[in-house]
Amino acid sequence: MAGKVKAEYKELVRTSGVRMIDSGLTVATWGNISACDREEGLMYITPSGMNYHTLTNDDIVVFDLEGNHVEGDRRPSIELQLHRGMFNARPETTACIHTHPIFSTVFSSMGRDIPIDLHDEAAQALGGPVRCATYQLPGTQDLADAAIDAIGKDSNACLLRSHGAVCIGADMDSAFKVATVLEMVSEIYWRILATGNEYQPISAENVAAMQEFVKTKYGQY
Ligand code: 13P
Ligand code: ZN
Repeated sequence: MAGKVKAEYKELVRTSGVRMIDSGLTVATWGNISACDREEGLMYITPSGMNYHTLTNDDIVVFDLEGNHVEGDRRPSIELQLHRGMFNARPETTACIHTHPIFSTVFSSMGRDIPIDLHDEAAQALGGPVRCATYQLPGTQDLADAAIDAIGKDSNACLLRSHGAVCIGADMDSAFKVATVLEMVSEIYWRILATGNEYQPISAENVAAMQEFVKTKYGQY
């Protein structure tokens, strides 16, 4: 039997759509967002091709993690299989954001990965290198499979070739942090390459030290 549908998850996904479009991480109706209620085994996703600013909570579509439709009359995002696949592949996550940001997409269109030894914040937030998936058509199972393969078990983001980025997190704020850091680091990387130089990598030891630091010592506890 399907789990209980909760209004707060619809509200979270709707308001996160506004947050995504207002942050400039995507344009028009592109990109998509989902949240997963692990207790109930349900995921909530934005509808396909609708204006984020005028969505209502009733426009959010609900599925279980096997892909069965649970609630909502709208056609879901064409990237439903991408989001569902992420939640199944990475059980520690509850939020998935697919964006079309400028600088991350510069690298995705070159088929290049974003390294995390380039910058402190990349090392702290991105989990592992942001690998670029092979090119696949939007909205296909092949795109979902390529993205899940690229993100692996270590990274919090991957690039979709000539398309955009996918970011995941333990909660929605973490997924947004990943999306923002990825775009910032991509812009820094692009500016470095534009000078004709390469970056000086942070040592593996220092990357590991920062990853440990953010898990145990950074912020309030
Ligand atoms: P949807 O509007 O169906 O979510 O599609 C947008 C998109 O970015 C497809 O990759
Ligand atoms: Zn897209």
